[in-house]
Amino acid sequence: MTLTDSPLPFLIQLAQQECRSAGTREGGNAMIRLVDALLRAAAARQASDLHIEPQMDGIHLRCRIDGLLAEPLPLLPLALQAALLARVKLMAGMDVTGHQLPQDGHIACLGDGTATDIRVSSLPASHGEVLVLRFQRRDEKLLELDSLGFTSENLARFRGFIRRQAGLVIITGPMNSGKSTTLYAAIHALTAPETSIVTLEDPIERQLPGICQVQMRERTGLTYPVALRALLRQDAEKILLGEIRDEETAALAVRIALTGHLLLTTLHTDDCVDAIFRLREMGVPAYLLAAVLTGIVSQRLVRRLCPACREAYTIPADSAEAQALGKDYQAGMKLWRARGCDACQGTGSRGRLALHELLPLTPALRQLILQGAPADALRTAMQKAALPTLWQDGLSKCQQGLTSLAELQRVLG
Ligand SMILES: [Zn+2]
Repeated sequence: MTLTDSPLPFLIQLAQQECRSAGTREGGNAMIRLVDALLRAAAARQASDLHIEPQMDGIHLRCRIDGLLAEPLPLLPLALQAALLARVKLMAGMDVTGHQLPQDGHIACLGDGTATDIRVSSLPASHGEVLVLRFQRRDEKLLELDSLGFTSENLARFRGFIRRQAGLVIITGPMNSGKSTTLYAAIHALTAPETSIVTLEDPIERQLPGICQVQMRERTGLTYPVALRALLRQDAEKILLGEIRDEETAALAVRIALTGHLLLTTLHTDDCVDAIFRLREMGVPAYLLAAVLTGIVSQRLVRRLCPACREAYTIPADSAEAQALGKDYQAGMKLWRARGCDACQGTGSRGRLALHELLPLTPALRQLILQGAPADALRTAMQKAALPTLWQDGLSKCQQGLTSLAELQRVLG
């Protein structure tokens, strides 16, 4: 299948006619074309997700673009529900007749020279199954560490983390903060014929050449702890562990990192210092943590200002923005905003950009962890070492015209 644009309303009408004339809800040729057109429409909008949600008044179709749910696509009549769900589930290799339990599936397709994997998940809801289609473009550029938005200082720090032979590197942030993209770029940078790399993932978000990727299967018993124990007996040097979710995984990850392996993983925490405390809560003793941690990255994604319509402006001293900036406000300070233009479809933003906070484990920090120092003491140490926080990295990106203060406030709360 290829992805190019095509008129949706016409296809909706056609699918409706065909359903009616065939006297069945199974749909036919027209439904195939309608679903293809929907996927094309979502892909053309650079959507990361397409939601297909049957509700009382019809089937709602919504795209997530640059992290936010955008204006909905045309409402589909409920008469198309059975045929539409059947078509998508069939394409995704899901059980078309099962409607009672959540299911997962996968569609592979091509569009404008970029390969796209679509992960499909279903969830039975009161008006029928809700399908969410997640688009994963194999954007080769995103595999390069220097295209992730790191400042040159942070990039050097990050390269320092992953160049080590052994240790634990943690990437932290909420859902959809680009953690996997950073992990994949790190693994890509480490890939070499003489290096053995294994990834344990749930799910595998993209296939990487030259490394061994393992998909976790909870139902059959292949969990992170089971796979990590097996890895202790295998000859892997660098390991990507999808996520540390529980005590058992945390203990095994630390054990592996202590025995001469480099282990990269993710955690759901607000910032770098929180990651240290989350691992302590998961039962990792301070002396092991101090010994094994190499570095922590905390990250967020912000919408990038449209380069075609952005403009600089001076913040008035008595404005709400000056107040929001607090001690970071300086008289005559300039920031950027965008009004919206044709190039950005009136939204003022185009694509996204990552903000980072990096914490390299210096001897002073190791000492603080070992002593069980409180979070404030660790944050003060970060400040003293002139390590920019997420806010500071974001503010500097605001001043360069890459994003807006309002966006920074939205994302960092
Ligand atoms: Zn614009």
